[in-house]
Amino acid sequence: MSNPSLLILPGDGIGPEVMAEVRKVIDWYGAKRDLKFDVSEDLVGGCAYDKHGTPLTDETMAKAQEVDAVLLGAVGGPKYDNLDFSVKPERGLLRLRKEMDLFSNLRPAQCFDALADFSSLKKDVVAGLDIMIIRELTSGVYFGEPRGIIKEGNERVGINTQRYTESEIARVARSAFELARKRGNKVCSMEKANVMESGILWRDVVQEIHDAEYPDVELSHMYADAGAMQLTRWPKQFDVIVTDNLFGDLLSDLAAMLTGSLGMLPSASLGLPMANGRPKALYEPVHGSAPDIAGQGKANPIACILSFAMALRYSFDEGEEATRLEEAVNAVLAKGLRTADLLGEEGVQPVSTAEMGDAIVAALDESL
Ligand code: NAD
Repeated sequence: MSNPSLLILPGDGIGPEVMAEVRKVIDWYGAKRDLKFDVSEDLVGGCAYDKHGTPLTDETMAKAQEVDAVLLGAVGGPKYDNLDFSVKPERGLLRLRKEMDLFSNLRPAQCFDALADFSSLKKDVVAGLDIMIIRELTSGVYFGEPRGIIKEGNERVGINTQRYTESEIARVARSAFELARKRGNKVCSMEKANVMESGILWRDVVQEIHDAEYPDVELSHMYADAGAMQLTRWPKQFDVIVTDNLFGDLLSDLAAMLTGSLGMLPSASLGLPMANGRPKALYEPVHGSAPDIAGQGKANPIACILSFAMALRYSFDEGEEATRLEEAVNAVLAKGLRTADLLGEEGVQPVSTAEMGDAIVAALDESL
């Protein structure tokens, strides 16, 4: 059987720096766990524009459609700020998400023990936290028609439309239930069924999919505003949260920040299963290209490394190896090693991007 395939798109700014550390981890799995990937690398964002005049070529798009998973660094930078909208670096990323139809956006909020003091919440509220927010990514109020700013009499009116079809709700609900089965087997669906018809339909469809296909998973429903309160009051009550595009945008940022730095946050965007049963998938850190620290060896590679851990778990069914990698990150943090974004506590040891990557690989070695 051929090796699983991985397309790496490092992108701009700190993207290539953090991706170099992921390459060390990928090489480690090939050498030490006999888990080999066919890795290809290509351009996306500003660097693709510099070479080809477009942030994503048709050839790279076609490759992304064929591989088992795409791993992306970050795109953008001040050099490209004045480019025409159609060729801005971010358009490359948006094209990938749209043409791969990545409707299910997974944003974990996981608190590593050594960083529990880094949260703005009390330590016992966040220590050991491990929840997953699933945001519907390709529909809802950001895409619904009619939209625009129109003139009514003497004043302007801004219009956006929240619109969800049953099938759009059903597919993201399935994605949440499938994921819950690989975790704590619990889903909480959030909407505003008290004031929005789209919320009533959302609640109905999630319940129907549950009853027909996933009765073994524990399901609850919560209004999204109450959900926001509960997330800050006692986030550990949740396992998987599934919600729409708008509420998911807010709730996933809120949940992510429970755990500390932007340099720690991975994400996955999943689509429908391909012929081999694996979902279309794009893994990327939540952070951007951080032009203020690019090229200085200051970037934290952990968000990108944890994005690869998500690929191991959700694309390659290597949950145990994903846990091994997460535990290696935890072990390195527990030893007090910190990149510049995580400094502040006493007694920690500042390290560069490459030193953090090397320490994680050494911790993987120690795990054997
Ligand atoms: P950013 O995430 O790049 O940076 C915000 C702050 O966090 C900066 O101070 C940065 O130094 C710090 N930071 C981010 N990642 C870090 C890491 N791994 N380690 C240590 N510190 C880190 O957001 P921004 O400054 O608003 O945007 C910069 C560029 O990135 C813009 O061109 C923007 O369009 C682009 N962007 C791209 C993506 C993406 O590729 N998915 C996402 C957000 C922003």
